Amino acid sequence: MSRESFKVKTLRAKKIIAALDRTYPEAHCELNHTDPLELLIATILSAQCTDKRVNIVTKELFKKYHSATDYVNAPLAELEQAIKTTGFFRNKAKNIQACCRKLVGRHGGRVPRTMEELTQLDGVGRKTANVVLGNAFGINVGVVVDTHVARLSQRLGLTKQKTPEKIEPELMALVPQKQWTLFSHWLIWHGRRRCDARRPDCEGCEIKKLCPSAGKVKR
Ligand code: SF4
Repeated sequence: MSRESFKVKTLRAKKIIAALDRTYPEAHCELNHTDPLELLIATILSAQCTDKRVNIVTKELFKKYHSATDYVNAPLAELEQAIKTTGFFRNKAKNIQACCRKLVGRHGGRVPRTMEELTQLDGVGRKTANVVLGNAFGINVGVVVDTHVARLSQRLGLTKQKTPEKIEPELMALVPQKQWTLFSHWLIWHGRRRCDARRPDCEGCEIKKLCPSAGKVKR
């Protein structure tokens, strides 16, 4: 597998994509949201936290705060308390308020639709911007590389890179642009349901024939 050419790897990636599409036809962003602002806030909260925990917190949070102005006007201590269980809550609350201040000041309270504008907001890096663009607006600008996507793309032999910044462009070269958002959902779903970090279920894996790590992951 180490000598696999780019052409052969692209063909294998295509087969992996087809198999994951068949396995997870319902794959979607697992952060609950009803509009771009909610998704932006949920994604900021998801740093170092599970989607499940974020969804518990946002269920109440989104009942209370409906607009960027609501977050700006909230007493900081109140916002901190509301998001406390997601971890790093002081930093996240500060970022949410600063981010929403810019949304109000620069974008009329709306979430912008470009990578450049999004990454100028506090607490918003390329990953968060990719989540929002792909899932709230259907714009494929990049591939979200979280811990699951990084682990699976390495195990599947799609990249040897270690950091999200270097993994992302390699995945973008292998996967058709219109599937960038879905591709990360498929890998995240497969990572959560089959390809666990410590105990991958290679035996039952739907893409084991396409995976160079099948049965070889050290436990
Ligand atoms: S074969 Fe094993 S290591 Fe490869 S993707 Fe499936 S579960 Fe993960």
